[in-house]
Parts: sequence; structure tokens; C-alpha cells
Amino acid sequence: MREIRSLLARAADGGRITPDEALLLYTQAPLHELGQAADAVRRRRFPDGIATYIIDRNINYTNVCVTACKFCAFYRAPKHEEGWVRDVADIVGKCGEAVELGATQIMLQGGHHPEFGIEWYENAFSSIKAAYPQLALHSLGASEVVHIGRTSGLSHEQVIVRLRDAGLDSFAGAGAEILTERPRAAIAPLKEPGHVWLSVMETAHGLGLESTATFMMGTGETNAERIEHMRMIRDVQDRTGGFRSFIPWTYQPENNHLKGRTQATLFEYLRLVAVARLFFDNVAHLQGSWLTTGKEVGQLTLHLGADDLGSVMLEENVVSSAGARHRTNRTELIHLIRSADRIPAQRDTLYNHLVVHRDPADDPVDERVASHYSSTALPLVQAS
Ligand code: SF4
Repeated sequence: MREIRSLLARAADGGRITPDEALLLYTQAPLHELGQAADAVRRRRFPDGIATYIIDRNINYTNVCVTACKFCAFYRAPKHEEGWVRDVADIVGKCGEAVELGATQIMLQGGHHPEFGIEWYENAFSSIKAAYPQLALHSLGASEVVHIGRTSGLSHEQVIVRLRDAGLDSFAGAGAEILTERPRAAIAPLKEPGHVWLSVMETAHGLGLESTATFMMGTGETNAERIEHMRMIRDVQDRTGGFRSFIPWTYQPENNHLKGRTQATLFEYLRLVAVARLFFDNVAHLQGSWLTTGKEVGQLTLHLGADDLGSVMLEENVVSSAGARHRTNRTELIHLIRSADRIPAQRDTLYNHLVVHRDPADDPVDERVASHYSSTALPLVQAS
């Protein structure tokens, strides 16, 4: 216990901990002491007491995918009768609806359609930017770069440069799942290996496109493999500084081929959030999830090192397809943050504060700024 206490004190003071030390804390530190140490780091990084949220919309452009990840409830194989593709005009229309509701960011997410080459993405991004230059396109991930490279015969660097020039502002951390080799191969055998995911992100950071890094926990990985996922990200971050945030969330077990496998418990999730704050001495932000673990758990993360609760999510369909049922709205998210004893603030993609909600009397009230499945969905075009 003395070793754990001294480790916690060192980490709370900003000292770097090794992966072995992180594993020791993850598995053996008392939760309250772990949380106190993580919260000390959070307070030093954000002494203003502010915790943030963002208004964005996830727009899915196709559910057709050749990668067939076993945990995914969203995709349909090519030629499947439930496959669909969304027109770029519809996507731009959805961006307009999002702007109307105060969104500052769009996350384009979709399957790896075998016929989508670089031109499809260039057209989509440049069309959105032409109509709504104020929207940050925080979209895609390393997996899409690999897929586009394959379909268009381009190097990863060429794909990234062309996406950037078409209007992509930053990569979402999607597709990271778990980067550690054994569990990644078990749940996503056709997806690029973790070291390739990291190499694409490193290239993107070098070309001026920053990103976030995510972690989907609970698909059967060991505790050591969880820490290894974070170690792999931290090593790249030491070289690039391009990961703005670390975003862990829990695997949702419905409607997919892993159904019935282990799901991370809330206790494991909360411990991981705290250890992540101590381990990532080189990543500025840590996001707690309310979508997969519930709003109260999201609140708790704000006391375990997290400084951000992510998005209201005007639309989300991918994680919801696998069983995430939680919904919120802007007013509620502000209330959740404030009642967790933080000052709520709406942020942009770069974590600049857009509105700081110091006085509840001034809180914005607009019932339309709420999370939905495809609430304002426009008609879809059946995939060929
Ligand atoms: S997670 Fe993405 S890449 Fe994997 S099957 Fe689903 S849509 Fe395809």
C-alpha cells in the first residue's frame, strides 16, 4: 500500500508513470485515492473549474462496409438489402439543420464502402465547406485513410493531404477501438493493425491535421492490454503532440457478432478514466462518456479527472445501433456539469470556450438542441 500511495502522490504531482505502474494503480489503488490523484491533475490543468461540452452532429454517409468488425451493429455487407448511401446533397442539408441548432462541428462517419474513393470524400467535404465554412469537419479516422488509400491507389500521406485540402479540419479518433494486437485481431480482424492506425495518425499530425484518440473497452481484453492501448498512444503523442483528447467508452453488446461477450463494468470504466488522467501527462483533455455509461456516470467522471463531457449529439446512430440508449439535451448537460460542481462551458473543436454558463438564469433553453437517433433524417438512397 505504501508503494501505491507514493505512486499516486508522484502522479498527482505530474510525474510520469510507467505502464507497469499504471497497471498496478488500475488494479490495486483504492478508487477514492485514485480519483483524488486524478482530480488533482485535472485541477492543476484547469484551475478555472470549467468543464466543457460541444454541440455537434454525427452524420452517417453509408452503412455499407467491407471490414465487418465483429463488434459493429451498424454496417451491412455490400449488396445487403438493408445497405444504403446518403447523397452529398442530403449530407449538406443535415449540416444546415445542425448549424440552425447551434452546432459547431460535424463528424462524418460511415462504413468502408468498396466504391468510395478519394473523390467521394473530396466532393462531400468541399460541398459542406462551401455551404457552411464555419463548421469544423472533425471526421473520419485512420481506418478510412487506409480504406481510401486502397480503393484509390494512394499512399496514406496522399490521402491525408487531399482530405485536408478538401476541407477536413481534424480526424476523429474513430477506429482505434483497442490498438493492442491480440484483442484487436479478435474483434476486428480485417481492420488495419494498431501500429498502422498509429502510424496514419502520426503522419496526419505531421501534416497539420490533429485528432483525438478513443478507446472502446470491454470486448474481452485484459487489464494489461487496456494499459498497453494507452501506452501506444502516449508514445506517439510524445513525438507529435497531435492528440487533443483521450476518449474512453464502453463497448455496447447488442446486435453484433460479439453479443454476450464481456462488457466493462462501470467500476472498471471509472477506474480507467482516473488512470488515464494520471498516465496521459502529455494529452490535454480527457472526455467522460454519458452516451454509453449514462449521465450520472458521466458526471462522476468529472471527479475522476475528466474535463469534458463531449457532445449533445444532435444525431448518433452507430453506437446507438449496438444498444446505447442514453439521450440528453443542452440544458440537461449544462445542469449535469454544474451539479457536479463545475462551471459548464460550450466549447469548439479546439476546446476554446464559446459560452461560459456562469449564471443558471442565463442558461440557453432550446428543446430542439437534444440528442436523437436519425431524428431529422432525410430520405436515403438504397445502395447499389
Ligand atoms: S466499425 Fe466501421 S469499419 Fe468496422 S464494420 Fe462498423 S462501419 Fe465498418
